[in-house]
Amino acid sequence: MSRDQRHRARRGGPNSFRCRRCGLDVSTQALGTAHRNHCPNCLWSRHLDDDAPGDRAAECGSLMEPIAISVRGDGEWVLIHRCTGCDEVHLNRTAGDDNPLALMRMAVKPLAQPPFPLEHLARLWI
Ligand SMILES: [Zn+2]
Ligand SMILES: [Zn+2]
Repeated sequence: MSRDQRHRARRGGPNSFRCRRCGLDVSTQALGTAHRNHCPNCLWSRHLDDDAPGDRAAECGSLMEPIAISVRGDGEWVLIHRCTGCDEVHLNRTAGDDNPLALMRMAVKPLAQPPFPLEHLARLWI
């Protein structure tokens, strides 16, 4: 990192943003994505983009809650964010330095909280 980049990062310029959920300073440049828009620590995002990632066309600006993980055909994990302000749903590629524990917690959430008693499954399998 050059001296100039360090300087910009400290000022919170266009190369970084502060997570409004957990307060982490996040660099927008991350492994595996050109437009980092979510926090690698808590995975929350902000509703800044409208149609295309990085277009910054949305006027909403509310926090977006990570609600689920989806898997693309090539095995890539995709984070699903829902805006807490307007309920819009966005898909976002996970980044190389996203917190693996937070990702796993998201992925197993429906398995850990089934909407029916697990005994029902056992009955089906017999
Ligand atoms: Zn955060
Ligand atoms: Zn919104």
